[in-house]
Amino acid sequence: MQIVKQPDIFLREPTSEVKLPLSPEDQVIIDQMVDTMYKNNGIGLAANQVGYARRMFVMDTSTDRNSPKIFINPVIEKKAKEKLTEEEGCLSCPNQFADVRRPMYVGLKWICRHGKEQYKTFYHLPARVVQHEMDHLEGRLCIDYDKKSNNSR
Ligand SMILES: [Zn+2]
Repeated sequence: MQIVKQPDIFLREPTSEVKLPLSPEDQVIIDQMVDTMYKNNGIGLAANQVGYARRMFVMDTSTDRNSPKIFINPVIEKKAKEKLTEEEGCLSCPNQFADVRRPMYVGLKWICRHGKEQYKTFYHLPARVVQHEMDHLEGRLCIDYDKKSNNSR
């Protein structure tokens, strides 16, 4: 899978809900998204970063890189009032970094790849990745938050 890179306008286009139950083709796309995330040393990847304008993303923030999480039709239901600023990068914006201020935790509802509804509160790095990927599904990039991103490093 090729990663769609900024400034491709595909990254800015709306994404649509994934139809349930998932098709065998959807399962293949999910597996390929996980592979693509690992091959590119990413910790998260949204479907519209690989050419599918649909509401799903994958994430693995583990050190061992062996526990991919799949999020289908995710919805943020709760956000912390407290915010933290940290630097973010993005596979769609190579060599660019942005300081992004985000809620410290988020409660997320989603459908897993087996079609079951899930809910979890994410903290620390996973909270940041979840919000970064949710931004992708809304056509928003981390570099939108910060002018510093115009300077490649
Ligand atoms: Zn990204």
